[in-house]
Amino acid sequence: MGFLMLKKNKRFWQRVALQSHYDAVIIGGGLHGLATAYFLARQHGMTNVAVVEKEYIGFGGAGRNTAIVRANQRTPENIPLYREALELWPVLTEELDFNLMFNNCGNLNLMHSEAAMNAARMNVATAQFHGVESHLIDARQCKELVPALNISEDITFPIIGAMYHPPGGILRHDAVVWGLAKSASRLGVHIHQHTETTSIGVENHKIVSVDTNRGKIYTPRVLLAAGGYSAAISYAMLGIKLPISVLTIQAMVTQPLKPILDHVVSSGAYHAYANQTLKGEIATGAHMDPWPNYTTHTTAYYIKHQAEALAELLPCLRGVKFMRHWAGLADMTPDMAPILDGNDLIEGYYMDCGWGYFGFKSCAATGKYMAQFMASGQCSDILKPFALRRFAQHRLMGETAALVNYSPDN
Ligand SMILES: Cc1cc2nc3c(=O)[nH]c(=O)nc-3n(C[C@H](O)[C@H](O)[C@H](O)COP(=O)(O)OP(=O)(O)OC[C@H]3O[C@@H](n4cnc5c(N)ncnc54)[C@H](O)[C@@H]3O)c2cc1C
Repeated sequence: MGFLMLKKNKRFWQRVALQSHYDAVIIGGGLHGLATAYFLARQHGMTNVAVVEKEYIGFGGAGRNTAIVRANQRTPENIPLYREALELWPVLTEELDFNLMFNNCGNLNLMHSEAAMNAARMNVATAQFHGVESHLIDARQCKELVPALNISEDITFPIIGAMYHPPGGILRHDAVVWGLAKSASRLGVHIHQHTETTSIGVENHKIVSVDTNRGKIYTPRVLLAAGGYSAAISYAMLGIKLPISVLTIQAMVTQPLKPILDHVVSSGAYHAYANQTLKGEIATGAHMDPWPNYTTHTTAYYIKHQAEALAELLPCLRGVKFMRHWAGLADMTPDMAPILDGNDLIEGYYMDCGWGYFGFKSCAATGKYMAQFMASGQCSDILKPFALRRFAQHRLMGETAALVNYSPDN
C-alpha cells in the first residue's frame, strides 16, 4: 500500500477522464501548448483547461530540439519576446519547483568573412538597443573562450570572428516539458495524452467544440499549438491556409566526453552548431532537408556533413563516435517569425505556430502572453507584430536576414 501511495504521489501529471466541457482546449502537448496552459492556470485562474496531445507530451519538437536558448534575434519585433523568455528560465525553475538545468554558458555565432562581420553589426546594435548583451569578437578572442576551436587559416571557412552573446546557453528540453506539465496539472489543467484532435466545430463564426478520437469536447476557445502539424490542421479542419512550409530538421549526439566545450558554437557557413550537454555528449545539428516533407527520418548525407563540419571546427572531436541521431519537423514561415494570433474570422480561435527552429527558446514568454490573450481577449503589444494578416499586408519581418549569421536550430 505504502509503495502504491508513493508511486501515485510521484506521478508528475494526473490521468483524468476526458470531460465534455472545458473553458479552453489546447491542441498540442508541446512547449507552447503546455506553457500557455500553465500560465492560464497560474496567472489567470483559468483551470478548466484541457491539453490534448495525439501522442505523448514532448513528442514533437519539444522532445527533439537541441536545447539552445538565446535572445540575440535579428529584428526589434522579435528580440523583446526572446529576451523575456531568456529571463524567465531562472524564475520558472523556482516557480515550477523543477530543475530546468539552465546553463547560460554563452553563444558564439562564428563569422567567416568580413561581409558577415559587417552584417552582424546590425544584429549586435539591435540587440544592444533592446538591452540584450551581444558583442563582436575577433578570432583570437573566440579561441580564448573556446580553446578547442580551430582558428587556423587552413580550413574550408576560416574563422574571422564571432557574435558573442554571453547570456544565452542551453536548457534541458524534457525538463521544461515535464516541469510545465507537472505544475499545470497541479493547478487543475487536464493533460490528455493519446488524444488526437480530428475536427474543430464552428457555429456562427464562433468556436464551439473540438472532436477527438476519444470523444467530443464543447469549448468556446481553442489554441492551435501543434508545431509541424499546425498548418495541416488549420487547413483541413477550418479551411484556413497558413503560410507555413514543413521541413525536416536533423540532430545528433556523440558519445559522452569530458568537458571540452562550455559555449554554444554555431556557424552559418558550415551549416553546423555544437554544444556539450550536461551528460558530456556533444549535441550537434543544423542540416535541413530543403524540400517540404513530414518525415522524421535521418539521412547518411547529414551524418557525413555534420562529421566533416565538426572535424574542421573542433578537430579534437575527430574519431569520436556518434551515438544517436534523430529528426523532427520545423514549421517555417516566409519571414522566419511565428504566427501568434486570435483569428478575426472565428471568435475563440487562437494560433501559436510557425516557430521553425526557434520555438524552444521562446516558449516561456509566448505562453505567458498567449495565456493573457486567451483569458482577456486582448492581444498585448508584444504579440501584435506576429499577426497572420502581416503576410496579406506585405509586412514581413526581416528575421530571415539572421540566416547569414546563424545555423538552423540555433
Ligand atoms: C532537431 C531539432 C532541433 C531544434 N533545436 C532547437 C533549439 O536548439 N532551440 C530552439 O529554440 N528550437 C529548436 N528547435 C525547434 C523547437 O523544438 C520547436 O520550434 C518547438 O518544439 C515548437 O514548439 P510547439 O509547442 O509549437 O510544437 P511541438 O513541440 O512540436 O508540439 C506540438 C505537439 O502537437 C501534437 N499534435 C500534432 N497534431 C495533433 C493533433 N491533431 N491533436 C493533438 N495533438 C497534436 C504533436 O504530437 C506535438 O507533441 C528544434 C527542432 C528540431 C526538430
